[in-house]
Amino acid sequence: AVAQGVMSGTLYLDVPNELTAAQMNKRLRTPIMEALAHVHAEPAASTFRVVVNPELADAHLTMPVPIQSVSAPAPAPRPTEEYVEPVSTASRSDTRLNPKYTFDNFVIGQSNRFAHAAAVAVAEAPAKAYNPLFIYGDSGLGKTHLLHAIGDYALSLYTGIRVRYVSSEEFTNDFINSIANNRGSAFQARYRDVDILLIDDIQFLQGRAETQEAFFHTFNTLHDHDKQVVITSDVPPRHLTGFEDRMRSRFEWGLITDVQAPDLETRIAILRKKAQSERLLVPDEVLEYIATKVSSNIRELEGALIRVSAFASLNRSTLDISLAQTVLRDIVDTDDANIISPTDIITATAQYFRLSVDDLYGSSRSQAVATARQIAMYLCRERTNLSLPKIGQLFGNRDHTTVMYAYKKISELMKERRSIYNQVSEITTQLGRVGR
Ligand code: ADP
Ligand code: MG
Repeated sequence: AVAQGVMSGTLYLDVPNELTAAQMNKRLRTPIMEALAHVHAEPAASTFRVVVNPELADAHLTMPVPIQSVSAPAPAPRPTEEYVEPVSTASRSDTRLNPKYTFDNFVIGQSNRFAHAAAVAVAEAPAKAYNPLFIYGDSGLGKTHLLHAIGDYALSLYTGIRVRYVSSEEFTNDFINSIANNRGSAFQARYRDVDILLIDDIQFLQGRAETQEAFFHTFNTLHDHDKQVVITSDVPPRHLTGFEDRMRSRFEWGLITDVQAPDLETRIAILRKKAQSERLLVPDEVLEYIATKVSSNIRELEGALIRVSAFASLNRSTLDISLAQTVLRDIVDTDDANIISPTDIITATAQYFRLSVDDLYGSSRSQAVATARQIAMYLCRERTNLSLPKIGQLFGNRDHTTVMYAYKKISELMKERRSIYNQVSEITTQLGRVGR
């Protein structure tokens, strides 16, 4: 792990993957905090947080501390009797998990941090952390990925644990077939004899009263027996139309969390990760170009990357920005839900820094105002479809090069200074609420 340093009483540690993070959290928390108290008369930090930084994994860094050598008590082994199953039923193919989707290749950003943390918690302590866990969000933002990752991780932690992933469509078909073929008990067994049921896109059950009823019973049986249920949907439970109230309220028993559209930095990180895993050699500036072009759907973001690199290799041409521009000419990011008005951005930024909107439009060169203005410009570039000259006009007729400079500067600063990064993230989060 690479110590990232202490911030407001919290020690941040970067680790290469989820498993290491889990181990650190489980076994090393006490020794680390004790060691820290030893070194500093006045402990610099009172807690620590483990941050998964996939780039460390890529650098082939491994666990620096052999876990076994640390004399922390190992967690009590999970009772396994109830999971003992004939080997065949515990086989991985029965889980319907897609091995492509793991926590290791899930990029964490502001937009999915909470959902990711909840998913990890559920995999580590099925039916103990949150039950059910309900994840909602627009299409292409990683819900299915998280669902599979929960299963994958739980399987790696608990031998013999029975996990089943099912799409709501598949669940529906299965149910309908079971009635037609009089095989209700096989249907029940399939979904009730599990320790973790991962059910995707529950909104598909809208208006299907009988399938809902079947799911309701499945859910109750699992919940009553302390089995974990994880549900995804495109809307939060209260917005699921065509569902009975008793069902919607049941979905709210545990934890509800959303995934949002990723910010630019996260989009670039996702592309970089994807390029690595697909062994595509794509220059950074092309990744950045793609990330600015496609902002509201990670599936489309990945699609654009594949298109660009396929085009380059088929035509044996150099992969540069102008090629990417040509290939992605027809992509206009049209997801209005993710586009926020520049006025909202400027108002939110001014409020955040306790400045007036006129300060941002005006010509004050004081450091505080100038930085706030640059952040507002950065956000306008990132979150609206306005061209650089248009953004310049908005800010008291400034030249487009000023906007470009502001954008580059804030992008750079976000990498170097945590405070700027936090400020931009917090304003973005506020804007996310405005946009919804
Ligand atoms: P949803 O189920 O919300 O529609 P998916 O889980 O199918 O979205 O994600 C779409 C694609 O984007 C998948 O290929 C997935 O691996 C990828 N993806 C989504 N979020 C991330 C992330 N945070 N890091 C890496 N890849 C991601
Ligand atoms: Mg999905």
